[in-house]
Amino acid sequence: MQIKAKHPPCPYCHGPVEPRAIKAACDGCMAWHHKECWDEHGTCAACAFPEPPLVAPAFEIPSQEAREIREALRLGNPLEAQELCLELHEDERQARRLYEALLDEARQMGQIESAKAQNERIVTLLAEGEITAAQDQCLEAAGGDEVRAIELYEYLLSRADELGLIERAAGDEDL
Ligand SMILES: [Zn+2]
Ligand SMILES: [Zn+2]
Repeated sequence: MQIKAKHPPCPYCHGPVEPRAIKAACDGCMAWHHKECWDEHGTCAACAFPEPPLVAPAFEIPSQEAREIREALRLGNPLEAQELCLELHEDERQARRLYEALLDEARQMGQIESAKAQNERIVTLLAEGEITAAQDQCLEAAGGDEVRAIELYEYLLSRADELGLIERAAGDEDL
């Protein structure tokens, strides 16, 4: 049996305000709004309180999933991060907002820069045909987590391929 708690409805759009959504609480009546709805309406849709709301970004919620998304971003695998966001939110807009919030956070912490530098090194190795070295670097970046390392490797392999850096080995099997 499943117990389903009801999320409070946003007084503006009447849709549920999920705990993981980026949301705004009215400082007057504590009504939760979607941040987007508050911005559109410009004030509390329940009591029209004149003060700005208290905004709770999605990334302040310490969840296992957010930890994994952060980890994927730190690792320089935005594809995995996006997939994890979509697993968390069926609603694509919400997933994108969560992704952007976490991306912003990672950027502020300087993680995107270092992930970029690391990815460039690995892509260069792939372009040079140094497959084993590239795989080792992925494993190191992933802190020894093999599943993560393989996902990163595959992501970077597809990046290198997109950039036209991977030369198809002569004599590839014809279909
Ligand atoms: Zn709303
Ligand atoms: Zn209010």
